[in-house]
This record gives sequence, C-alpha cells and structure tokens, in this order.
Amino acid sequence: MTGPAAAPPDPSGPQRAGLPDFTIRTTMLTYDQPDASGHFGPYGGSFISETLTHAIEQLRQAYARYQHDLAFQREFRHELAHFVGRPSPIYHAQRLSHELGGAQIFLKREDLNHTGAHKINNVIGQAMLAQRMGKPRIIAETGAGQHGVATATICARYGLECVVYMGAEDVKRQSPNVYRMKLLGATVVPVESGSRTLKDALNEAMRDWVTNVENTFYIIGTVAGPHPYPMMVRDFQSVIGEECLRQMPEMLAELGLPGNGVEAQPDAVIACVGGGSNAMGIFYPYIPLEGVRLIGVEAAGEGLDSGKHSASLQKGQPGVLHGNRTYILQNDDGQITETHSISAGLDYPGVGPEHAWLKDSGRAEYVGVTDAEALAAFHRLCRTEGIIPALESSHAVAYAMRLAPTMRPDQSLLVNLSGRGDKDIGTVADLSQADFYCRPSCRGQSVKGDVALASLR
Ligand SMILES: *Cc1c(COP(=O)(O)O)cnc(C)c1O
Repeated sequence: MTGPAAAPPDPSGPQRAGLPDFTIRTTMLTYDQPDASGHFGPYGGSFISETLTHAIEQLRQAYARYQHDLAFQREFRHELAHFVGRPSPIYHAQRLSHELGGAQIFLKREDLNHTGAHKINNVIGQAMLAQRMGKPRIIAETGAGQHGVATATICARYGLECVVYMGAEDVKRQSPNVYRMKLLGATVVPVESGSRTLKDALNEAMRDWVTNVENTFYIIGTVAGPHPYPMMVRDFQSVIGEECLRQMPEMLAELGLPGNGVEAQPDAVIACVGGGSNAMGIFYPYIPLEGVRLIGVEAAGEGLDSGKHSASLQKGQPGVLHGNRTYILQNDDGQITETHSISAGLDYPGVGPEHAWLKDSGRAEYVGVTDAEALAAFHRLCRTEGIIPALESSHAVAYAMRLAPTMRPDQSLLVNLSGRGDKDIGTVADLSQADFYCRPSCRGQSVKGDVALASLR
C-alpha cells in the first residue's frame, strides 16, 4: 500500500540555479510563522477597530484551545472524510504530460470535494469553532459565490443561521450560486453601496459583526483578515498538502519515477493565488522540504503591464487591507485600484500575508498567467483528460503547461486543481462566443450549437 516514507530534507540537497540561497534555518523561520501577534515577518498582524478587539481575542483564545485538541481534530478529520469525501486523489495527467513532452503533471483533485472546491475544508473548521464558542449565527461575504455556497452548506449541515453578504452587482452576475445558497437556507443580502462588489460586501459583513458580535461568528474564506484568520485558515487547508506528502511517493513509485531525490516528492508544487488559501494549503507542509519549488500563480488578466490584472504580489506594494499588512494593488495615493481577472475567485486586490512573507524570504516564487493562457489551459484539460477545471485552477494548469516542456520526463509537477469548472461554463461560452450554452438571458431564443462547437475546434 504505502510507498517509501518521505525522508527529512537533506541539508546538503541540490541548490537550484537562479533561486535564492535557502538554508534550513531560514526555512524553519518561515515554517514557524506567524509570531504570537500574527506577524509573518513584517506582514499580517491585526488592524481592527476597537469594537472588534474583544471578538478577535475570543476567537484567538478559542483557536488556541482547540488547535491541538484531540477531540476537535478527530471530529474535523471525520467531517472531511464523510461529508467532503477526503482524501482527494492525486491523478497523473498522462495524456497531457505526454503531449507536452516534458515533466509528468500530477493533479491534486480538490475539484472532487463536496461543493466542488477546496473552500469547504476551511469552512468546516470555522463552523466547528463557532459551535464550540456558542455562536449560533454565521455571517460571510462572497464575491463569485463559492465561499458563500460552502458556508451555506455547512450551516445547513450544523443547523446554524447563515447570512451571506454579496455585492448587488455580483448577485446579478452569479445568480445560480445565489439560488444555491437560498436552497440551502441562507439569507443573501445584496450590498448596494460603493461599486456593489466584493469589497463593499466585506465592509457590510464587518459592520454586521460589530453590531452582533455576541451571537455571531464571521467565517472568512481565505488566508486574509486579522490574526488569527490567516494562520487558522492555513491550518485547516493544510490537509491538502499533508495528503500530498503521503500520496506522492506512492504515485511516483508506481510510475518508477525517482521523484525529487531522497524526498520522493515532486520537483515543484503549483497553485493559483487569489487570497491564497488553496496555495497555502498545499504549500505549507512542503515548506521544510527545500528541494521542492513552490510556485504561486497570480491572475495576470490582460497582461502584467496592462493595469488589468489581480497580481498583488508581483505588481502591488505593502499596505494595510482587510485587517492585515500585505501586498496590495494601490495607486500613488494609497487607494485600492480596480482589479481584473477572467476568474472571479482570483479577482482580489490583496493576498494573504504569509504569501507576502514567502515571497520576500524567497521560499516561494510568484508568476502570472493571463486570461487567454488560462482559457487555453481550460480547454486543453477538458479535451486531453476529461476534466473541466475551474477557471481559477486553470491558471495553475497553464503554468504547469508552460514549465513542463522545459523539464525532463522523469521529473514531476504537482498542480493543485482547486475546483471544478461547472460554475464557469457560462463565462467560457461567452468568451468563445458560443451560443451552445443557453444562459438565462438567451432562454427562448434559438441555440446555435453547431456554431459553438465550431468555435471550440
Ligand atoms: C475561491 C477559489 C480560489 C481562490 O481562492 P484562494 O483563497 O486563493 O484559494 C481558487 N480556486 C477556486 C476553485 C476557488 O473557488
């Protein structure tokens, strides 16, 4: 059953050309983050109004208590196994790897989780905390609706009241997810202020929390927000990487591949970065394994120099957003700038503070993939492997497709396939100018399926 066990990292392990000199000491300093007040190097921390200090302190104490509590951990694992369907498999994308003619590409199948993405892992952990803290009311904010759906799902599962804030513009754009949340019993509140999108929903959720802090738990959907959220969300999501550490040696052994020297692990781990939770989840357990490259893929939108992207780590500057210090996309006056991505889940002007630290320390690399590249990768994975990926995840797949041909066939890349693409087929059909997919707006009109298929060929 089990392959060779993962050996500890070799301190004299191979240094990679072009990468910063990275010692065990700096690795451990990175792995041990954050400090007691939530700082990842100069990033993170807790920038909140006085009205929230009590709530945040309560949460910090609750998490400190249950983080290493055996009964809590046992129940969390049980939920992941029986409600989510974990462990998710690792799949060898054999046809795609063969076509590209380089490194073997492996996919961590978070798309097979209940609700179709990684977000549910974290939401279960936070909902379990809410129960133990005696908070019967859950609030969340959502942009594309994926985090809202995961939260509504868990609230139904645990019998908790659920209120989801969503920009009015997003409510219109994401009507299937809005309906899903309502089916699950959640109240969806359209936010009419500002640009009527995610950041306005965030402000409204904060306002609700301040008002109802006694009975309300705020579930944040990524590794952002004030301490302890970035650490806590990372810990809940790191089940992804922990499974990979066990699964990869077996996968590589099956194919007779050497893996990355003594570690029997992939040469690189690749994940898309919006707020950064699926990436932190798969990266975290790999941080001490110095020979494994960690590559985060940001949305380069219409190009990194176009001004229309969401690449906070590559094009942003340090500043404070959503209760923590991190890289953010801002103009010279410190105003948050408009972001753009083909995928709603990557369309965020900040990034989790731990990624900012991983970038500065050199342990992880961050690259950009454009809308067009992500869309091409989306179609390619559909056609070569029979898997429809989320547009977010397609960014990571696209970078693997760029990197693989530069490597040897006995090397390997592990891609976090963070979610499935069912939610995106309307967007893809629009971009392919395909009328094959009948959107609500085209109901009753003729559907030109042949034209659509032709545009895909
Ligand atoms: C929300 C989402 C993302 C982006 O969020 P992270 O916190 O960066 O992981 C990526 N992929 C999918 C499928 C998502 O739903």
